[in-house]
Amino acid sequence: MELDETHQAMEDVVQAFCQREIEPRIDDLESGRVSPFEIMRSMSDALDMGGLITSGAIADPVVPAILAKQLARVSPGLCLSVISNLGCGATIATRGSADLVARCGLPVLSLKKVGCWALTEPESGSDAFALKTTARIEGDEVVLNGSKAFSSNAPEAEVLLIYARLAGGEAGDKRRIFPVVVERGTPGLETGPPLEKFGMHASPTGDIFLDDVRVPRENLLGDPDRPARGTAEQTLASERIVIVAMCLGVIERCLDEAIVHARERVQFGKPIAAFQLTQQKLARIYVAQENVRNSMFALIHAQETRTVSERQVSAAKWYATEAAASAALDAMQIMGGAGYLREHAPERMFRDIKLWTVGGGTNEIQQLTIAKDLLRQHGFEIDLAGGFRVEGEGA
Ligand SMILES: Cc1cc2nc3c(=O)[nH]c(=O)nc-3n(C[C@H](O)[C@H](O)[C@H](O)COP(=O)(O)OP(=O)(O)OC[C@H]3O[C@@H](n4cnc5c(N)ncnc54)[C@H](O)[C@@H]3O)c2cc1C
Repeated sequence: MELDETHQAMEDVVQAFCQREIEPRIDDLESGRVSPFEIMRSMSDALDMGGLITSGAIADPVVPAILAKQLARVSPGLCLSVISNLGCGATIATRGSADLVARCGLPVLSLKKVGCWALTEPESGSDAFALKTTARIEGDEVVLNGSKAFSSNAPEAEVLLIYARLAGGEAGDKRRIFPVVVERGTPGLETGPPLEKFGMHASPTGDIFLDDVRVPRENLLGDPDRPARGTAEQTLASERIVIVAMCLGVIERCLDEAIVHARERVQFGKPIAAFQLTQQKLARIYVAQENVRNSMFALIHAQETRTVSERQVSAAKWYATEAAASAALDAMQIMGGAGYLREHAPERMFRDIKLWTVGGGTNEIQQLTIAKDLLRQHGFEIDLAGGFRVEGEGA
């Protein structure tokens, strides 16, 4: 499957922006001399994000995939900042009141304001729905208490989407977990400094602390008298599809760099591309590229036809993230000592993309999700904590 003309034209615009505005500033972005949000805001106008929203094109699953792939080719870190913004903005824009949509949802979705979304907590990562942050409704207000860990963009976020348990919900009961919008400056809200990380240096990650944070009742997205509508799962599923597109960008970049180096580097009197062990690595990266591209288009098609399944998303995320990390390592190996240097993209690509074997739900959790979805079809229900129930039999 290939992009149609409209999507190809859009990809060309995004690619040109990345080459012009991001690639020359990679060192500054990585070292923190340039803020990813400065570039993100300039993307807003350059890519006409507002126009994509008003025309409805932003809801086309190909659009975030194009953005993610092209951004990841130059900076997976900046890409993470952007997709975290989109995840926060899309949730508010589709579920918020008119006022919230105008003040927070659209500015975040169009990349004018910095947004983050926070599900993970110090004591709940893979077991995400065991979260302890509480939301209490008091008259016209919602009061939040708790803390969040590892939230992308949190150190600079102007709009924070906090997943909290409404009073009355048992631990692990996801039907009582709702997203609540909190704006920077609200008393009781604090964010920690950026955490020091292995990679994704162009994406600040941080903790969030909520101490009797009061927001208007309308900031709680959803009807508290009804079960929550799986907002967190939907955001995670959309994020996983975008992760696959990011992986494709990383693999393409690594293949390009590896081919150039293999042709130019001469050892034993020949370009190293003449050695079959180099050729094998190039072939392996190419196979990863083809598989990840095919699974990205299959996911997009399934989204468009509303046939996407949990296991399809998890399988693609698991495969693509492992394949991209291996491709980056293969490219580094082809480049020898140079591959170990910061100045060459595969080294950074490896450090950045490694996150996705953990973030967005670890790859172990993806494997459990695939098995859960498969077994459910055969009357065998399992949960991620190792429990099971056979249809027609007692627990
Ligand atoms: C850079 C970065 C950015 C992030 N951004 C965000 C963000 O914006 N918003 C957000 O909400 N979160 C974010 N996260 C958090 C991320 O989603 C979690 O780190 C991830 O879900 C794993 O949770 P954990 O770190 O608590 O690991 P744990 O859940 O403690 O897992 C530790 C290990 O145990 C394994 N494990 C756990 N349960 C099982 C099981 N049942 N069976 C087998 N193995 C199991 C895991 O696979 C893993 O290998 C981010 C994390 C990082 C590092």
